[in-house]
Amino acid sequence: MDQDSLSKEDVYDVIIIGGGPAGLTAGMYTARARLSTVLIEKLGIGGQASITDRIENYPGFVEGISGPELVHTMEEQARSFGMRIVFGEVTTIKCSEESIIKKVFVNGEPEPYQCLSLVLAAGHEQRKLGVPGEKDYTGKGVSYCATCDGAFFRDLPIAVVGGGDVALEEALFLTRFAKKIYVIHRRDRLRGTKILQERAFNNNKIEFIFDSIVDEIFGQMLVDGVKVRNLKTGERKDLEVNGVFVFVGWIPGLSFLGSIIERSEDGYIVVDKEMETSREGVFACGDCRKKNLRQIVTACGDGATAAFSAQHYVERMKGEEYV
Ligand code: NAP
Repeated sequence: MDQDSLSKEDVYDVIIIGGGPAGLTAGMYTARARLSTVLIEKLGIGGQASITDRIENYPGFVEGISGPELVHTMEEQARSFGMRIVFGEVTTIKCSEESIIKKVFVNGEPEPYQCLSLVLAAGHEQRKLGVPGEKDYTGKGVSYCATCDGAFFRDLPIAVVGGGDVALEEALFLTRFAKKIYVIHRRDRLRGTKILQERAFNNNKIEFIFDSIVDEIFGQMLVDGVKVRNLKTGERKDLEVNGVFVFVGWIPGLSFLGSIIERSEDGYIVVDKEMETSREGVFACGDCRKKNLRQIVTACGDGATAAFSAQHYVERMKGEEYV
């Protein structure tokens, strides 16, 4: 990973927070529009897509494409137009009515990066189950990433918790390693796409446990099993598994924003159709914004729109003619 060294005295045209598909697309567009563009990412480039084994609904790839390959190409493309990347965690943002300059503080450092226009593309965070044992056994059998940890469970029984696209995709991926996979879902109907449901139902390594939740994850040094409760019958049983993969959706992880921008009841950023937030010159795109369909292709679309709006704003602020 390259770390670009950047001056904190300059005022950049655009700062993008988050290096998933939304942020990378926004960066490609603003850099290509010849705006000075800095993307700040806290972990690794690519977000959730970078730990997805195969993406088969991003247009242009009949056989699908690996997540890491797709996001690496997006990063290269954005960099080729001049987008620069800083690795660090955004801790605070300051915007005021008196100034058009927005300040982005990284890693708690006193000197901020400064910009005219800010694009929020920070994605969201994986929801935890919040049951006893989950925290204690994270990294000791509890995982939130099949691509990262699947190979540790070769020929072992494991549980996948959740019934959405991610739970189904990852359960299918895990069949490469595990001996048996119990998919534990709290309802009797899956939320995931029909084609994934069909594949999962047809895979003889996968067994569904419906209407059920995990009450506890237990073990000694490592995970030995989960306590499962049927919500309809109240029946409880211990399931012997060596791994628990949790894919129960997402929550917005935007604590750095404080209350400077309007958010929905569930914490996502509210934008208009041009991706502008309640604060002028601040735009949001991808999974961190309030929306119904969270896909790579919609994240990219959002990113392009946010970039176009940011470009418009920057040119207006600089007094240039908008084309
Ligand atoms: P999701 O669609 O929100 O599904 C989360 C699942 O976890 C749901 O089945 C939900 O149950 C369950 N759940 C939530 N909280 C729970 C809890 N506390 N305990 C037990 N179960 C709980 O999330 P996702 O699967 O992570 O997908 C996120 C978004 O990315 C979706 O929009 C999805 O379509 C998209 N995505 C798409 C693809 C693709 O198209 N290839 C791939 C990956 C992700 P209920 O069903 O009862 O609510």
